[in-house]
Amino acid sequence: MLTATHIAYLHTCHRKLWLFANGIQMEHTSQLVSEGKLIGESSYSDRATKYTELALDGIKIDYYDAKNRIVHEVKKSNKVEYAHIAQVKYYLYILRKNGIEDPQAIIEYPKLRQKESVLWEQGDQEKIENWIKEVQDLITRAECPALDKKPICKSCSYFDFCYIHEV
Ligand code: SF4
Repeated sequence: MLTATHIAYLHTCHRKLWLFANGIQMEHTSQLVSEGKLIGESSYSDRATKYTELALDGIKIDYYDAKNRIVHEVKKSNKVEYAHIAQVKYYLYILRKNGIEDPQAIIEYPKLRQKESVLWEQGDQEKIENWIKEVQDLITRAECPALDKKPICKSCSYFDFCYIHEV
């Protein structure tokens, strides 16, 4: 089933998307991922009482304010990335598809002490449906996309896998 992680990886690295979708998962060994989870948990420990967790059609929203229809997403990153926005737009797409009227989202960056509002814009539906097609096309290819070296590789959970032959 397609998830918001697929959509985020589509905007991060096509190789990462393919590896993840084809069952090669290394996230649990990543120090950065566990650090991120910790930031999410410790900075917002009182959230569980205010917000509900919502799992729906392949998405899992940790902090959903059902009363105001607002998704709260916490990111450990020290920069705002388009992949985060794409992931959250996909949440809004699924919520809308399930009859939630005009949902909104806020991405919170505790390290930056910054918040980013994500609104539904005209053309988003078509844009997201194109992303879904792109994901389906990429992940069903027989070959893993070639290594494309880029700065984010250093913090990627697949770094060891991708750079195994590098000196
Ligand atoms: S290490 Fe780089 S090339 Fe490999 S999956 Fe991660 S981001 Fe993509």
